[in-house]
Amino acid sequence: MKYIDEFRDKGLARRLAETIAAEAHPGRDYRLMEFCGGHTHAIFRYGVQHLMPPNLSFIHGPGCPVCVLPMARIDHAIALATQHDVTLCTYGDLMRVPASERKSLLKAKADGADIRMIYSTQDVLRIARENPDRQVVFFAIGFETTTPPTAVAVKTARAEGLTNFSVFCNHVLTPSALQTILSTAGPDGVQLDGILGPSHVSTLIGSRPYRFVAEQFGVPVVIAGFEPLDVMQSALMLVRQLNDGRCEVENQYTRAVSEEGNRKAQALIDEVFRIRPEFEWRGLGFLPNSALALDDAYADLDAEERFPVEFAPAKEIKGCECPAILRGVKTPTDCKLFGNPCTPDNPMGSCMVSSEGACAAYWSYGRFRAASLQPKVESRS
Ligand code: SF4
Repeated sequence: MKYIDEFRDKGLARRLAETIAAEAHPGRDYRLMEFCGGHTHAIFRYGVQHLMPPNLSFIHGPGCPVCVLPMARIDHAIALATQHDVTLCTYGDLMRVPASERKSLLKAKADGADIRMIYSTQDVLRIARENPDRQVVFFAIGFETTTPPTAVAVKTARAEGLTNFSVFCNHVLTPSALQTILSTAGPDGVQLDGILGPSHVSTLIGSRPYRFVAEQFGVPVVIAGFEPLDVMQSALMLVRQLNDGRCEVENQYTRAVSEEGNRKAQALIDEVFRIRPEFEWRGLGFLPNSALALDDAYADLDAEERFPVEFAPAKEIKGCECPAILRGVKTPTDCKLFGNPCTPDNPMGSCMVSSEGACAAYWSYGRFRAASLQPKVESRS
């Protein structure tokens, strides 16, 4: 298949659904975690769950970079902008995420802080070049996929001698989050039979880093693309592994992911960053070796070193279930605030803000609504 329409073909989807239904054993459950928020949105947008047999369920994982950022880091960013009067630059979704005391970057901007939404790291460099008298801080977030552009910006700033550019680094690492989820799986955590591995992240790190999931935890992994047929084919591959008693890392997304990943990008990341001993993830707590900071060679461009700040411990919004949703132990409709008052126009937590968040997916595509609320089709008897 070469064109996007072919990955959304109704006839192929129907045949895949029939094959999955025929091969899934009725006497067992198939609980498959889609790690990535992009998969969650594909599942909801195209109604993939409704095409699955009742004993195959998708469990939403913590693969939304905005959602997993703990409130304390947003509080920290706001403090950077307000206490040091820097120009703080970041991506759009992050602007509306609630921080402590119902603050957000957008509200801090409305109160007078110089906070700007950017589309790429090139925008940040441009702002730094155009404003030599102001300190410009890039609030960097994201999984392995968004890390190389930050590395390029750091190297460019160094090469140009930009002394008013620095990075507030919040890049996180996927394998560590998977390790934590699987370590806590079981009676007190989430029950998992298989993992749909992230696609964009895997283009960078390759499929090899997931081996520990199969070898250490006995859970099969299929790296899955983002289109609905990708997700369905990956679900079938997991069903077949489970039926056969196999436990392997398979790659459905072969058009973009190799076993080794992107070696050039990996080398760039290794040069510019070091692994933090631990980092807090929303919902998962402090995880060892789970995030990046600038390497010592670039410490002078590290905003945390350059601008020490003071802020109080973060306060979660009462009733928001984002942490449990990110662990896969609750769904958005378990949250009492879902839909009233929490909606994309009035988000109470990160999972409703982000374009990859589970609550936003439930709300935007309306598939949470009970059958009784759907319009009834009159029969013509
Ligand atoms: S519905 Fe809103 S308040 Fe509830 S978990 Fe989702 S984001 Fe948090």
